[in-house]
Amino acid sequence: MLLKYCDMSGKVKADYLILETDESHVPVVYSQLKLDTLVVLNFFRDQLDRNGEMETLIQKINGFCKTFEGNLILNGDDPNTARLGKANPKNTNVKYFRAEPYAFATHKIFEASEGRFCPFCGEPLEYEFYQYSHIGKFICKKCGFGNYEPYITASGIDLDKPVFTADGHTYSPKLNSIYNVYNMTAVAAAAKLYGIKQSVTEGVINNYTVKNGRMENFMLGDRKTTLNLAKNPVGANMTLRVMNEMKGEKELLFVLNDNIADGLDVSWIWDINFSIFERVTRVVTSGTRAYDIAVRIKCSGYDQSKIVVRPDLDKAVEELASTEGRKFVIANYTAVQPTRAALKRYIAKHGGKQE
Ligand SMILES: [Zn+2]
Repeated sequence: MLLKYCDMSGKVKADYLILETDESHVPVVYSQLKLDTLVVLNFFRDQLDRNGEMETLIQKINGFCKTFEGNLILNGDDPNTARLGKANPKNTNVKYFRAEPYAFATHKIFEASEGRFCPFCGEPLEYEFYQYSHIGKFICKKCGFGNYEPYITASGIDLDKPVFTADGHTYSPKLNSIYNVYNMTAVAAAAKLYGIKQSVTEGVINNYTVKNGRMENFMLGDRKTTLNLAKNPVGANMTLRVMNEMKGEKELLFVLNDNIADGLDVSWIWDINFSIFERVTRVVTSGTRAYDIAVRIKCSGYDQSKIVVRPDLDKAVEELASTEGRKFVIANYTAVQPTRAALKRYIAKHGGKQE
């Protein structure tokens, strides 16, 4: 990125650079660049082969934060992220963002979660509510971890519209998931910190969309189909939630690959909570591990006779589209682009469109 935007003498004509940084490379990248503000959204188990256990990764970034004195904008509803705020007691520039409960927040946790215990004293954390996974309002009753004044809070969250309010401003984002509300609240926090004009912040939050297989919509003929990437259990659980929150019956295509970038170990699918399936009338599975995901879904108690295995992607899409009604597609990391391509091939052959 720097090479692309620099002139012949190597100078970049910009005051600030915003980088999405691979989590495991934060200490390396910012030993080379002057970092003004670090925004951390959350920690979830992801790419075990590459990152190792999540605690290893947190320790890496925590180590970096011990000497960092710039602004830290942290998700105050994720204990694994919020703990970074205590890494350097001398840093007075720590700010937390958080969110009030949304319609599907729960009092009990029902997905695989990380960080149930206080990282400072080992007591179990107590939650007022969970938004999803281990994200929610927590407190350690023993040492007080979790008790802080938020810099910015998202409230009035209504994902049907979708709409939320932060710092007295109401936003209407294009994406209707709770994790997007968190991401956008982090954006609002950074914008507030830098005194960015409200009209600019609103323009960004209200118009940002992301394609490339992240809640991307297709019409397979007249069948509305939503594709979403899920590369770890939390992502998959969130996608299943979004699918459940949609009204009416639907059919699911799950594409699971085990290429190097996915992690050769697909045991993470056993941390996906398939027992929350609602109004899912049929499941098609595909990918290099089509049979593994079929067995996993069967073991969750789902009726085996409603599971169809089609390792070939084109055949899987044909199978999915062979019935009427709403469709949902979940694909893991290296499966997303081939799945998009297969959906497009179906559309080219049988009609429909990419929205
Ligand atoms: Zn504690």
